[in-house]
Amino acid sequence: MKEVVTGIDIGGTNTVLGLVDRDGNILAGDSLLTGSYPDVADFVKAIADSVKKMKQKAGDVEIKGIGIGAPNGNYYKGTIEQATNLVWRGVIPIADMIEKETSIKVVLTNDANAAAMGEMIFGAAKGMKDFIVLTLGTGLGSGIVVNGQMVYGHTGFAGELGHMVIVPNGRACGCGSHGCLETYASATGLVRTVLLLMSEMRDNTPLRNIPPAQLTSKMIAEEAAKNDPVALKAFDYTAEKLAIGIANSVIFSSPQAVFLFGGLVNAGELLFKPLRQYIDKYVMPWYRGRFEVLPSGIKEANAAVLGAAALAWNEIL
Ligand SMILES: [Zn+2]
Repeated sequence: MKEVVTGIDIGGTNTVLGLVDRDGNILAGDSLLTGSYPDVADFVKAIADSVKKMKQKAGDVEIKGIGIGAPNGNYYKGTIEQATNLVWRGVIPIADMIEKETSIKVVLTNDANAAAMGEMIFGAAKGMKDFIVLTLGTGLGSGIVVNGQMVYGHTGFAGELGHMVIVPNGRACGCGSHGCLETYASATGLVRTVLLLMSEMRDNTPLRNIPPAQLTSKMIAEEAAKNDPVALKAFDYTAEKLAIGIANSVIFSSPQAVFLFGGLVNAGELLFKPLRQYIDKYVMPWYRGRFEVLPSGIKEANAAVLGAAALAWNEIL
């Protein structure tokens, strides 16, 4: 009988599940539409059914634990707390509920910490004891590992590097503060930058023909690849703000590497080239050349499930 864990990534739109072995192979997978379960009790039942279904599909396996990555997931309490992009309000004791329904041990953390776990167990951070993972998606999430341990802090919500203030009195952030890193260095931050640059620059760009609400970071990356001046300037500006965030973070925990993950990273050298230049400019000189900034070693399509599974392998066993 093969030992596996279940990795579950709870997202605003989809919840993705997978049975994962110790080597990071996904033996069976499933997904649910999170929003179609306004009552969290129904969602928990659907999760339990899905786990049973995957177990049947995978054949002769024993599920040793369940790992969950979720927005605003509290590692200490196994709760999802005030997650604004989920349908359930307040504090949801989701780990306990799923554990009761499935009789399998459950451990939970936030999605960015799960990504860092995935990087450590299955990805490019294998063998590293000190590293940071930044997830550049709609927002900017982060997981910090120090001495081989995830940093959770007093509240369980340590290492929210996306909410470091990079620009005093800068852009309004969803967290209620202003000038947070994620308002600049994220997919939505890049779009905000392009909208601003189009009002300041006279250059022609096809991006002007796209209604602002439909503009995406992918479109901006495509134009930047064709040397569009506005798109290139937007990447340069984003890279500078991200570099300031990384320069400040590196001082705090002295990582061996900073891994970047998420849609924005697909832009490759459009982001990494200016980023490396700005990091050299802003980081404390002694740190130059003493850490690397690298793309994640995990394929984006599997990352969330592998991260949640890595948490289970690491914590339960
Ligand atoms: Zn913020």
